[in-house]
Amino acid sequence: MSLASLAEAGPWIIAGIAGLLAGSFLNVAIYRGPHQWGLVDGESRGDLARPRSYCPACKTPIPFWRLVPIVSFVLQQGRCAQCGTAIPVRYPVVEAIGGGIAIIALAAFGPTPSAAGAAVFGWALTALAFIDLETGFLPDAITLPLIALGLAANAFGLFVPVTHAIIGAIAGYGAFSIIGWMFEQLRGKEGLGLGDAKLLAAIGAWGGWIILPAVVFIGAVATLLAIVSAKAIGKSTSMDQPIPFGPGLGIAGFVALIAAPGILSGL
Ligand SMILES: [Zn+2]
Repeated sequence: MSLASLAEAGPWIIAGIAGLLAGSFLNVAIYRGPHQWGLVDGESRGDLARPRSYCPACKTPIPFWRLVPIVSFVLQQGRCAQCGTAIPVRYPVVEAIGGGIAIIALAAFGPTPSAAGAAVFGWALTALAFIDLETGFLPDAITLPLIALGLAANAFGLFVPVTHAIIGAIAGYGAFSIIGWMFEQLRGKEGLGLGDAKLLAAIGAWGGWIILPAVVFIGAVATLLAIVSAKAIGKSTSMDQPIPFGPGLGIAGFVALIAAPGILSGL
């Protein structure tokens, strides 16, 4: 490989590795966060920093050389090297998503602070989506800092004018609170949690108010498609349960942040 092509490949390799490692950390946040933040009952799983990664089944600490994203999972054929318990496929999937987000952000923004910001945004949305799927919660411990980070990023001019970001945060929260309230009046029970409102506030803080209608629309369509396909493969989905809207909103929010500059400049 020539020096020139190495220099060209460099940012992609760095982004890919950073993304895989971020995905590895997201797995820790998804597994331990809801316990640490008191959202679900059960034995403590440690906090985000301590203890070192361990097998949930046999509690054996995992040596660092077995924590290589995706590679370790493949080499161990998806099982704990100590006790043989199957490792959920969510682990390599989240690692791959983490890597993919970093590559997409680099492709969209080049080696810039905007790319780094978009990657952080995408990683946080990933953690929220999986936590919402597994627990039904969108933790304040992630949504609230994500709102602040989005406003800060745009104060430094990363994506949209900061006034658009502030209006986006307020409009996102307001719109979803109103939709949630109407849902309650219609069905006599809670349909959308305020976690969804805070998530939409975060998306508005990052991408500005202009993307919000498209995000809600794409998010709703994606969520409906997921519910319909879950029904088609025979998974029971009760209409009495709150709808996990976090994954759909998260996907729509990330796509909108990546695609908006191109679409808006073409208008
Ligand atoms: Zn084990």
